[in-house]
Amino acid sequence: MRDQLRALAKLAKMDEAAKDFDEELKTLPQRIEAMRQDVDTLEKLLVHERSQLEEAQKLKQMRVDELSEQREALARAKAKASRARTMKEADAAEREVEANRRAIGDREKEIATLQETVETKTATLEQRESQFEEAQDMFRKEAEAAKKRLAEVQALRGEVVVGRDEEIAKLPRRLVKRYGRLRERSKYAPVSIVSDGTCEACQMALPPQLFIEIQRGERASDSTGDYTIHDFYTCPQCHAFLVYHGLVADVLPRTEAEEESAEASQEAEEAGASSAEAGAEATS
Ligand SMILES: [Zn+2]
Repeated sequence: MRDQLRALAKLAKMDEAAKDFDEELKTLPQRIEAMRQDVDTLEKLLVHERSQLEEAQKLKQMRVDELSEQREALARAKAKASRARTMKEADAAEREVEANRRAIGDREKEIATLQETVETKTATLEQRESQFEEAQDMFRKEAEAAKKRLAEVQALRGEVVVGRDEEIAKLPRRLVKRYGRLRERSKYAPVSIVSDGTCEACQMALPPQLFIEIQRGERASDSTGDYTIHDFYTCPQCHAFLVYHGLVADVLPRTEAEEESAEASQEAEEAGASSAEAGAEATS
């Protein structure tokens, strides 16, 4: 049973170490996709601005053509007025000249307004174009960096899960399934390494009898070595599998405090050895 508990603890530690990498593997492509969509939006805006500008330019050209036609019409009306023989003819020709003058004045105003529109739109378009180029440039750089980073993260993740399948093979299949579900759905860790009577995952104080049992590691009924999911204890609150720290400490990464105390004892040992040497030298 102890082997199974160690496998479970190892599996949990591996997955915990892989978690940040998994998160990055998920969020980084999402971030790049969001950027790509922003660039697309800018491009659509740009296309729209361009077609608006083209329309304004076309309309202006149409008005310019009309203006030259109206100027010709005015010249014809003036010629007619000069050839008028009767009062009636002269009045009619004069009215035609006036009408053409008014039409020409209106056209000229219209063309000036359209010219302003074209100028404003050209300026906006230039601005949008440089914004778009900037965004596209940034996107390309980010996408390139992300591609590199993703490969890095894949490799790092691969390193921390080396041997994961071997650990899984040691565990009852139903337990592995339940573990997977907890990992996906529970907001708590799927495995709780217990050292002081509280569940490491949800911080609940475990019933004293349960704490005693998980310290033993075995359920009283087990002797065959063919373990099932029922041989494992779970937290009554968060359902994490409970593993007593003392039974699996050798497979867990050392905590900072343990690291320090190990260093301290090694130093003490070295100091002890050198003072013993000094003592030996003194007596000889
Ligand atoms: Zn718990």
